[in-house]
Amino acid sequence: MAKSRPPKRILESYTIKGSDRVIKPGDCVLMRAYDASKPPYVARVEAIEAAGSRGTNVRVRVRWYYRPEESIGGRRPFHGSKEVFLSDHYDLQSADTIEGKCNVHSFRSYTKLDSVNAEDFFCRFEYKSATGSFVPDRIAVFCKCEMPYNPDDLMIQCEECSDWFHPACIGMTIKEAKKLEHFFCQTCTAENGKMAENSHEATAQSEEKPVESKRRRR
Ligand SMILES: [Zn+2]
Ligand SMILES: [Zn+2]
Repeated sequence: MAKSRPPKRILESYTIKGSDRVIKPGDCVLMRAYDASKPPYVARVEAIEAAGSRGTNVRVRVRWYYRPEESIGGRRPFHGSKEVFLSDHYDLQSADTIEGKCNVHSFRSYTKLDSVNAEDFFCRFEYKSATGSFVPDRIAVFCKCEMPYNPDDLMIQCEECSDWFHPACIGMTIKEAKKLEHFFCQTCTAENGKMAENSHEATAQSEEKPVESKRRRR
C-alpha cells in the first residue's frame, strides 16, 4: 500500500544555522559551493519549505545568480568583480548550505555605495541559462574603446559631451585623472577652440568612482 508522503509546509522564515540571521523569501543568500575551493553561490530565496516527518528538513527554493565566469560567454572586461546575472535557473536546495545573507543591488545603487562590502553585489542583466543570452541585450557604451561601464574602473567625464573615458584610453594615468579639475575630451577640445585646456589644479578629489562631473566654470 502506498504511503502518503508527509505534507510540505511553507515557512515564512529560516534562521541560518549557527547564527541569528533570519532569511525570508526575497532575500539574497550565499550558498556553499559543491567545490569548497570555489566562492559561494549567490541566490535569491523564492520560498522556504519544511519536509520530513517532523518538518525538520528545511529546503529553500532559489533562483540562481550567475557570476560572469559561470555564464556561457565567460567574464568580459566590462564585468565588475561583484557583478552577477539574475538567471532563469531555479533549484531546490537544503537550507543547510546557506552560509549567509548578501545584498544584490541595482547597478545604479551599487555605484552610489559609499563602501562595497564582501556581501555587496550588483545585477544589471538577466541571464538565460539555456542560450547564454542576456536581457537587456544592448547596453550603453562609453569611451574610445566603446565598452560598457565597469564600476571597478575609474572613468572621467567630459564636461562638454558627457561621455566617460578610461584614463588609459586617453593616455593618462589614474593619478593624473584624479587630479583633474576639468576635463574635455579630444573631440570636444578640437571642435571648440576657445575651450579651456584641461586643468590640472591639484584639489582634494574624493575617491568616489566615477569622478563626478563638476559644474563648469568658464
Ligand atoms: Zn576606454
Ligand atoms: Zn567631449
